[in-house]
Amino acid sequence: MESTGSVFNAMLQEFDGAARLLALDPGIWKVLTHPKRQICVSCPVQMDNGEIEVFRGYRVQYNITLGPAKGGIRYHPGVTLDEVTALAAWMTWKCAVAQIPFGGGKGGIIVDPNRLSRRELEALTRRYVAEIADAIGPDKDVPAPDVNTDAQTMAWIMDTYSMHVGHTSTAVVTGKPIEMGGSLGRREATGRGVMITTREASKHLGLTIEGAKVAVQGFGNVGSVSADLIAKLGAKIVAVTDWKGGVSNEKGLNIPALIDHVKQHRTVAGYTGGDKLDPAKLFGLDVDVLVPAALENQITMENAPSIKAKIIAEGANGPTTPEAHKHLHERGVFVIPDILANAGGVTTSYFEWVQDRHGYFWEEEEVNRRLEQKMCEAFKAVLDMSIRYKTDMRTAAYIVAINRVATVTRMRGMYA
Ligand code: NAD
Repeated sequence: MESTGSVFNAMLQEFDGAARLLALDPGIWKVLTHPKRQICVSCPVQMDNGEIEVFRGYRVQYNITLGPAKGGIRYHPGVTLDEVTALAAWMTWKCAVAQIPFGGGKGGIIVDPNRLSRRELEALTRRYVAEIADAIGPDKDVPAPDVNTDAQTMAWIMDTYSMHVGHTSTAVVTGKPIEMGGSLGRREATGRGVMITTREASKHLGLTIEGAKVAVQGFGNVGSVSADLIAKLGAKIVAVTDWKGGVSNEKGLNIPALIDHVKQHRTVAGYTGGDKLDPAKLFGLDVDVLVPAALENQITMENAPSIKAKIIAEGANGPTTPEAHKHLHERGVFVIPDILANAGGVTTSYFEWVQDRHGYFWEEEEVNRRLEQKMCEAFKAVLDMSIRYKTDMRTAAYIVAINRVATVTRMRGMYA
């Protein structure tokens, strides 16, 4: 059975494969496959029509061995505790791969934000933060944006938390507006990391990125910035899809114009600078690079056999099922795993947290220079591990991460 159901089970399958190769101590294995804390809250909100609605929210702190939990908050009708736990685990491995002193966390609220007014969204965000206020903080757990949350959401979170603790606490969240302690370069950081790892993978495989054809699924923060920066390397973004539709252009889409279209219409559908594309056809297109940048479980055994791309850069978290990943690896497709490809976001979040705590802010070039260095180091560490263990990049990334978290777990010992 393909694991399109439990996202946490998919994470465990990936973990187990790496832990076996690493001959991980069985005790540490148990510790690293259990979430440290799972918080479930109910958030009552008075809606604009006067009625009260109650929304379910979660915050999971999967592992905090290396530092405070770090991870985004997602607003989506499909949020489940299983999904949030898997995402929090992936954050743990991602921070370890990127070598930043954070553990892994994630949050989510079961809500379709498109159906809420701005006032309702603010009220929901503030109530959710009030419910989890004791568990978060600059030394405890530092949220960030994820699907359907943005800099404004982070501003509300920062303000609500600050009201609770009685002083302004900028370092409680990252991905904030620049004016209130955000970092230059943070908004673009995840897409920048996708671009850097795609470029490094092309170099490794001896492919030229200039003129390469690229297809992108999802055109939100990660998808749009990845597309823009990969296009700036000289590649052609020939197809893009989102929740509502898709567009294609063999000569390459004009990405800045498409971004403007999405600002106005909230979807790529209807963009006139290309042909209408059925989103179901995206993965089977004749392209060199695929960037899934929407949600998990998108590349499955249903569509993986039709994939022609040589490189898949996982902008999204968990976009490929373990079965589809195995199939792609056996066919020689070079998959840059999520915990490496999209680690640019959390790396610059770390820079933001450092700047907030110092009260001293860096120029954008400085942020991007440090991000470039961190991403290249992480790519090299994972590639070296994949060569050493003769394994795929995902398993290698897990080996790097598990090694780092397991070493510190052993050094700290078991408190009892
Ligand atoms: P976003 O809300 O800005 O964008 C999501 C995009 O996916 C939108 O364009 C939406 O229309 C599209 N989408 C949703 N359902 C779809 C479907 N069924 N088919 C095609 N497209 C669909 O979110 P984001 O921040 O860009 O996050 C996207 C992915 O990247 C998520 O998996 C997230 O966890 C991951 N991620 C985000 C960051 C970050 O810094 N924002 C960092 C690391 C990983």
